[in-house]
Amino acid sequence: MKNIYSNILKPTKKNLIRAKIALEKGNVIGVPTETVYGLAANAYNTAAIKKIYKIKKRPQYNPLIVHYKNIEAIEKDAESNKNFKKLVKKFSPGPITYVLKKKKKSKISPLVSNNLKTIAVRIPNNKIIINILNKINFPIAAPSANKSKSLSPTTAKHVAQEFNNNLNIILNGGKCKIGLESTVIDLTGKPKILREGGLPSETIMKYLKIKFSIKKNKKIKSPGLVGLHYSPGVPIYLNRLKPFPKGALIMFGKNKSRKKNFFNLSNQSNINEAAKKFFNILRIIKNKKYKSICVNKIPNKSLGKAINNRLIRASQY
Ligand code: AMP
Ligand code: MG
Repeated sequence: MKNIYSNILKPTKKNLIRAKIALEKGNVIGVPTETVYGLAANAYNTAAIKKIYKIKKRPQYNPLIVHYKNIEAIEKDAESNKNFKKLVKKFSPGPITYVLKKKKKSKISPLVSNNLKTIAVRIPNNKIIINILNKINFPIAAPSANKSKSLSPTTAKHVAQEFNNNLNIILNGGKCKIGLESTVIDLTGKPKILREGGLPSETIMKYLKIKFSIKKNKKIKSPGLVGLHYSPGVPIYLNRLKPFPKGALIMFGKNKSRKKNFFNLSNQSNINEAAKKFFNILRIIKNKKYKSICVNKIPNKSLGKAINNRLIRASQY
Protein backbone atom coordinates (compact mmCIF):
# COMPACT_ATOMS: atom_id res chain seq x y z
CA MET A 1 0.00 0.00 0.00
CA LYS A 2 1.24 3.42 -0.92
CA ASN A 3 1.89 5.79 1.95
CA ILE A 4 -0.82 8.49 1.97
CA TYR A 5 1.85 11.18 1.96
CA SER A 6 3.70 9.86 -1.11
CA ASN A 7 1.87 12.19 -3.52
CA ILE A 8 3.04 15.31 -1.69
CA LEU A 9 5.57 16.93 -4.02
CA LYS A 10 8.13 19.67 -3.53
CA PRO A 11 7.45 22.62 -5.84
CA THR A 12 10.51 21.97 -8.02
CA LYS A 13 10.60 23.11 -11.66
CA LYS A 14 9.87 19.57 -12.76
CA ASN A 15 6.93 19.14 -10.41
CA LEU A 16 5.42 22.51 -11.34
CA ILE A 17 5.44 21.34 -14.96
CA ARG A 18 3.81 18.07 -13.91
CA ALA A 19 1.11 20.13 -12.17
CA LYS A 20 0.59 22.25 -15.29
CA ILE A 21 0.24 19.15 -17.48
CA ALA A 22 -2.21 17.54 -15.06
CA LEU A 23 -4.41 20.67 -15.10
CA GLU A 24 -4.26 20.83 -18.91
CA LYS A 25 -5.39 17.21 -19.06
CA GLY A 26 -8.43 18.06 -16.93
CA ASN A 27 -7.17 16.48 -13.73
CA VAL A 28 -7.61 17.75 -10.18
CA ILE A 29 -4.58 18.55 -8.02
CA GLY A 30 -3.89 19.93 -4.53
CA VAL A 31 -2.25 23.37 -4.41
CA PRO A 32 -1.22 25.75 -1.65
CA THR A 33 -2.60 29.28 -1.39
CA GLU A 34 -2.11 31.83 1.38
CA THR A 35 -5.61 31.14 2.76
CA VAL A 36 -6.01 27.35 2.79
CA TYR A 37 -4.98 24.56 0.38
CA GLY A 38 -7.15 24.30 -2.72
CA LEU A 39 -8.48 21.47 -4.88
CA ALA A 40 -7.65 22.87 -8.29
CA ALA A 41 -8.95 22.27 -11.81
CA ASN A 42 -9.36 24.08 -15.15
CA ALA A 43 -12.30 26.47 -14.69
CA TYR A 44 -13.08 26.33 -18.44
CA ASN A 45 -13.39 22.54 -18.48
CA THR A 46 -16.76 21.16 -17.27
CA ALA A 47 -15.50 17.58 -17.02
CA ALA A 48 -12.65 18.75 -14.77
CA ILE A 49 -15.02 20.80 -12.59
CA LYS A 50 -17.29 17.76 -12.21
CA LYS A 51 -14.33 15.91 -10.73
CA ILE A 52 -13.90 18.60 -8.02
CA TYR A 53 -17.53 18.26 -6.91
CA LYS A 54 -17.24 14.48 -6.93
CA ILE A 55 -13.95 14.20 -5.01
CA LYS A 56 -15.09 16.79 -2.44
CA LYS A 57 -18.65 15.41 -2.26
CA ARG A 58 -19.65 19.06 -2.58
CA PRO A 59 -23.30 19.82 -3.41
CA GLN A 60 -23.61 21.53 -6.78
CA TYR A 61 -25.54 24.48 -5.37
CA ASN A 62 -22.34 25.64 -3.63
CA PRO A 63 -20.31 27.43 -6.33
CA LEU A 64 -16.53 27.59 -6.61
CA ILE A 65 -14.05 30.47 -6.44
CA VAL A 66 -11.99 31.01 -9.58
CA HIS A 67 -8.32 31.92 -9.18
CA TYR A 68 -6.56 34.26 -11.62
CA LYS A 69 -3.00 35.50 -12.11
CA ASN A 70 -3.99 39.16 -12.47
CA ILE A 71 -6.80 41.68 -13.03
CA GLU A 72 -6.48 41.59 -16.82
CA ALA A 73 -7.16 37.87 -16.80
CA ILE A 74 -10.21 38.37 -14.54
CA GLU A 75 -11.61 41.04 -16.85
CA LYS A 76 -11.78 38.51 -19.68
CA ASP A 77 -14.45 36.57 -17.78
CA ALA A 78 -16.08 39.12 -15.47
CA GLU A 79 -17.59 42.61 -15.74
CA SER A 80 -15.30 45.04 -13.95
CA ASN A 81 -16.53 48.09 -11.98
CA LYS A 82 -15.19 50.98 -9.91
CA ASN A 83 -15.24 49.30 -6.51
CA PHE A 84 -13.64 46.18 -7.94
CA LYS A 85 -10.75 48.15 -9.46
CA LYS A 86 -10.26 50.07 -6.24
CA LEU A 87 -10.23 46.98 -4.04
CA VAL A 88 -8.02 44.93 -6.36
CA LYS A 89 -5.44 47.68 -6.40
CA LYS A 90 -5.33 47.78 -2.61
CA PHE A 91 -5.89 44.18 -1.48
CA SER A 92 -5.04 41.77 -4.31
CA PRO A 93 -3.21 39.49 -4.49
CA GLY A 94 -4.66 38.56 -1.12
CA PRO A 95 -7.42 36.81 0.85
CA ILE A 96 -10.36 38.60 -0.78
CA THR A 97 -12.82 37.17 -3.31
CA TYR A 98 -15.01 39.39 -5.48
CA VAL A 99 -18.43 38.34 -6.78
CA LEU A 100 -18.91 39.99 -10.19
CA LYS A 101 -21.26 39.66 -13.16
CA LYS A 102 -20.03 37.01 -15.54
CA LYS A 103 -19.35 38.19 -19.09
CA LYS A 104 -21.60 36.64 -21.73
CA LYS A 105 -18.59 35.54 -23.74
CA SER A 106 -16.81 34.08 -20.71
CA LYS A 107 -15.56 30.52 -21.13
CA ILE A 108 -16.08 29.66 -17.44
CA SER A 109 -17.90 26.34 -17.11
CA PRO A 110 -21.53 26.93 -16.01
CA LEU A 111 -20.93 24.29 -13.35
CA VAL A 112 -18.44 26.56 -11.55
CA SER A 113 -21.18 28.89 -10.35
CA ASN A 114 -24.17 26.58 -10.59
CA ASN A 115 -25.57 28.47 -13.61
CA LEU A 116 -25.57 31.80 -11.75
CA LYS A 117 -24.95 34.94 -13.81
CA THR A 118 -22.13 35.84 -11.43
CA ILE A 119 -18.68 34.44 -10.68
CA ALA A 120 -16.50 34.66 -7.59
CA VAL A 121 -12.91 35.60 -8.49
CA ARG A 122 -9.67 35.99 -6.58
CA ILE A 123 -5.93 36.59 -7.09
CA PRO A 124 -4.07 34.38 -4.60
CA ASN A 125 -0.95 35.60 -2.84
CA ASN A 126 1.19 32.48 -3.10
CA LYS A 127 4.07 32.02 -5.47
CA ILE A 128 3.41 28.36 -6.22
CA ILE A 129 -0.14 28.79 -7.52
CA ILE A 130 0.84 32.02 -9.31
CA ASN A 131 3.74 30.17 -10.96
CA ILE A 132 1.25 27.58 -12.26
CA LEU A 133 -1.25 30.25 -13.36
CA ASN A 134 1.55 31.88 -15.36
CA LYS A 135 2.19 28.59 -17.20
CA ILE A 136 -1.41 27.94 -18.30
CA ASN A 137 -3.95 29.85 -20.35
CA PHE A 138 -7.03 29.26 -18.22
CA PRO A 139 -8.03 30.19 -14.66
CA ILE A 140 -8.19 27.65 -11.84
CA ALA A 141 -11.36 26.84 -9.91
CA ALA A 142 -10.31 25.83 -6.42
CA PRO A 143 -12.45 25.23 -3.35
CA SER A 144 -10.73 24.24 -0.12
CA ALA A 145 -9.05 20.83 -0.42
CA ASN A 146 -11.20 18.97 2.09
CA LYS A 147 -14.28 16.76 2.00
CA SER A 148 -17.45 18.83 2.10
CA LYS A 149 -18.39 19.87 5.69
CA SER A 150 -14.97 18.89 7.04
CA LEU A 151 -11.99 20.90 8.32
CA SER A 152 -10.09 23.07 5.86
CA PRO A 153 -6.47 22.05 5.18
CA THR A 154 -3.60 24.40 6.03
CA THR A 155 -0.72 22.00 5.22
CA ALA A 156 -0.08 19.53 2.38
CA LYS A 157 -0.35 16.66 4.88
CA HIS A 158 -3.89 17.76 5.78
CA VAL A 159 -4.84 17.46 2.10
CA ALA A 160 -3.43 13.94 1.94
CA GLN A 161 -5.35 13.02 5.11
CA GLU A 162 -8.60 14.18 3.49
CA PHE A 163 -8.21 12.31 0.20
CA ASN A 164 -5.74 9.46 0.87
CA ASN A 165 -4.22 8.51 -2.48
CA ASN A 166 -7.02 9.93 -4.61
CA LEU A 167 -4.95 12.94 -5.66
CA ASN A 168 -1.86 12.23 -7.75
CA ILE A 169 -0.31 15.61 -7.08
CA ILE A 170 -0.34 17.71 -3.92
CA LEU A 171 2.17 20.54 -4.16
CA ASN A 172 3.79 21.31 -0.85
CA GLY A 173 3.89 25.00 0.02
CA GLY A 174 4.34 24.59 3.77
CA LYS A 175 1.89 26.13 6.24
CA CYS A 176 -0.65 28.61 4.85
CA LYS A 177 0.23 32.18 5.82
CA ILE A 178 -3.33 33.24 6.65
CA GLY A 179 -4.98 29.93 7.56
CA LEU A 180 -8.60 30.97 6.94
CA GLU A 181 -10.57 31.12 3.67
CA SER A 182 -10.88 34.40 1.79
CA THR A 183 -13.39 37.12 2.62
CA VAL A 184 -16.15 37.08 -0.02
CA ILE A 185 -17.59 40.44 -1.11
CA ASP A 186 -20.45 40.91 -3.55
CA LEU A 187 -19.72 43.82 -5.89
CA THR A 188 -22.63 43.35 -8.30
CA GLY A 189 -24.49 46.17 -6.53
CA LYS A 190 -23.85 48.00 -3.28
CA PRO A 191 -20.84 46.17 -1.75
CA LYS A 192 -21.91 43.43 0.61
CA ILE A 193 -19.81 41.00 2.64
CA LEU A 194 -21.06 37.47 1.95
CA ARG A 195 -18.51 35.62 4.05
CA GLU A 196 -16.05 36.78 6.70
CA GLY A 197 -12.54 35.54 6.02
CA GLY A 198 -8.82 36.26 5.88
CA LEU A 199 -9.15 40.00 5.24
CA PRO A 200 -11.12 41.70 8.05
CA SER A 201 -14.39 43.20 6.74
CA GLU A 202 -13.71 46.36 8.85
CA THR A 203 -10.54 46.96 6.82
CA ILE A 204 -12.48 46.76 3.56
CA MET A 205 -15.28 48.94 4.90
CA LYS A 206 -12.87 51.61 6.10
CA TYR A 207 -11.08 51.66 2.79
CA LEU A 208 -14.26 52.00 0.71
CA LYS A 209 -15.47 54.65 3.16
CA ILE A 210 -18.94 53.21 3.04
CA LYS A 211 -21.00 51.49 5.63
CA PHE A 212 -22.29 48.16 4.63
CA SER A 213 -24.05 45.67 6.74
CA ILE A 214 -23.56 41.96 6.75
CA LYS A 215 -27.20 41.22 6.19
CA LYS A 216 -28.79 37.91 6.78
CA ASN A 217 -30.80 37.82 3.59
CA LYS A 218 -33.92 35.73 3.42
CA LYS A 219 -32.75 34.60 0.04
CA ILE A 220 -29.20 33.36 0.43
CA LYS A 221 -27.04 35.24 -2.05
CA SER A 222 -24.00 33.11 -1.44
CA PRO A 223 -24.91 29.45 -1.28
CA GLY A 224 -22.93 27.29 1.09
CA LEU A 225 -23.22 29.76 3.94
CA VAL A 226 -25.57 27.81 6.18
CA GLY A 227 -25.58 24.44 7.96
CA LEU A 228 -22.77 22.32 9.36
CA HIS A 229 -19.34 23.12 7.94
CA TYR A 230 -15.68 23.19 9.08
CA SER A 231 -16.53 20.26 11.34
CA PRO A 232 -14.03 18.18 13.34
CA GLY A 233 -16.77 15.54 13.72
CA VAL A 234 -17.43 16.04 17.46
CA PRO A 235 -19.62 18.57 19.33
CA ILE A 236 -18.17 22.05 19.86
CA TYR A 237 -19.23 24.34 22.72
CA LEU A 238 -18.42 28.04 22.55
CA ASN A 239 -17.51 30.60 25.25
CA ARG A 240 -16.35 27.95 27.76
CA LEU A 241 -13.53 28.05 30.29
CA LYS A 242 -13.22 24.34 30.96
CA PRO A 243 -13.35 21.15 28.89
CA PHE A 244 -15.77 18.28 29.47
CA PRO A 245 -14.45 14.87 30.60
CA LYS A 246 -12.62 13.23 27.63
CA GLY A 247 -12.89 16.55 25.83
CA ALA A 248 -10.38 19.15 24.67
CA LEU A 249 -10.18 22.87 25.41
CA ILE A 250 -9.17 25.51 22.89
CA MET A 251 -7.78 28.56 24.63
CA PHE A 252 -7.09 32.10 23.53
CA GLY A 253 -4.72 34.35 25.49
CA LYS A 254 -2.32 34.04 28.40
CA ASN A 255 -2.85 30.90 30.36
CA LYS A 256 -0.51 29.02 32.66
CA SER A 257 -2.35 25.72 32.76
CA ARG A 258 -0.67 23.25 30.48
CA LYS A 259 -2.56 20.00 30.17
CA LYS A 260 -2.38 17.60 27.30
CA ASN A 261 -5.98 18.30 26.30
CA PHE A 262 -5.43 22.10 26.32
CA PHE A 263 -4.56 23.82 23.04
CA ASN A 264 -3.79 27.53 22.82
CA LEU A 265 -4.58 29.49 19.64
CA SER A 266 -2.37 32.33 20.82
CA ASN A 267 -0.68 32.91 24.16
CA GLN A 268 -0.16 36.55 23.17
CA SER A 269 -3.84 37.05 22.25
CA ASN A 270 -2.71 37.66 18.68
CA ILE A 271 -5.71 37.09 16.42
CA ASN A 272 -3.59 36.60 13.26
CA GLU A 273 -1.62 33.86 14.98
CA ALA A 274 -4.91 32.31 16.14
CA ALA A 275 -6.26 32.34 12.56
CA LYS A 276 -3.13 30.67 11.28
CA LYS A 277 -3.27 27.89 13.87
CA PHE A 278 -7.06 27.47 13.98
CA PHE A 279 -7.72 24.61 11.53
CA ASN A 280 -4.50 22.83 12.47
CA ILE A 281 -5.46 22.73 16.16
CA LEU A 282 -8.96 21.47 15.32
CA ARG A 283 -7.41 18.74 13.19
CA ILE A 284 -4.96 17.70 15.94
CA ILE A 285 -7.87 17.44 18.37
CA LYS A 286 -9.87 15.42 15.84
CA ASN A 287 -6.95 13.04 15.19
CA LYS A 288 -6.46 12.54 18.95
CA LYS A 289 -10.11 11.48 19.11
CA TYR A 290 -11.30 13.78 21.90
CA LYS A 291 -15.06 13.43 22.36
CA SER A 292 -15.91 17.14 22.49
CA ILE A 293 -14.30 20.56 22.17
CA CYS A 294 -14.89 23.56 24.43
CA VAL A 295 -13.61 26.92 23.20
CA ASN A 296 -12.73 30.11 25.12
CA LYS A 297 -14.46 33.29 24.04
CA ILE A 298 -12.76 34.69 20.93
CA PRO A 299 -12.98 38.50 20.54
CA ASN A 300 -15.43 39.23 17.75
CA LYS A 301 -13.42 41.70 15.78
CA SER A 302 -10.93 41.61 12.92
CA LEU A 303 -10.09 37.97 12.08
CA GLY A 304 -11.92 36.94 15.25
CA LYS A 305 -15.16 37.40 13.30
CA ALA A 306 -14.04 34.90 10.70
CA ILE A 307 -12.94 32.44 13.41
CA ASN A 308 -16.25 32.79 15.26
CA ASN A 309 -18.19 32.35 12.03
CA ARG A 310 -16.40 29.03 11.46
CA LEU A 311 -16.84 27.94 15.09
CA ILE A 312 -20.58 28.63 14.91
CA ARG A 313 -20.88 26.61 11.71
CA ALA A 314 -18.77 23.80 13.21
CA SER A 315 -20.91 23.73 16.36
CA GLN A 316 -24.07 22.88 14.43
CA TYR A 317 -23.16 19.25 14.97
P1 AMP B 1 -15.03 27.69 -0.47
O1 AMP B 1 -14.84 27.09 -1.81
O2 AMP B 1 -15.32 26.68 0.59
O3 AMP B 1 -13.97 28.69 -0.09
O4 AMP B 1 -16.38 28.55 -0.57
C1 AMP B 1 -16.57 29.46 -1.62
C2 AMP B 1 -17.54 30.51 -1.15
O5 AMP B 1 -17.76 31.45 -2.21
C3 AMP B 1 -18.89 29.92 -0.80
O6 AMP B 1 -19.42 30.58 0.32
C4 AMP B 1 -19.69 30.20 -2.05
O7 AMP B 1 -21.04 30.22 -1.81
C5 AMP B 1 -19.14 31.56 -2.48
N1 AMP B 1 -19.37 31.80 -3.90
C6 AMP B 1 -18.74 31.23 -4.94
N2 AMP B 1 -19.26 31.67 -6.12
C7 AMP B 1 -20.23 32.54 -5.81
C8 AMP B 1 -21.15 33.34 -6.59
N3 AMP B 1 -21.14 33.32 -7.92
N4 AMP B 1 -22.02 34.12 -5.93
C9 AMP B 1 -22.03 34.15 -4.58
N5 AMP B 1 -21.20 33.42 -3.80
C10 AMP B 1 -20.31 32.63 -4.39
MG1 MG C 1 -14.37 25.16 2.00
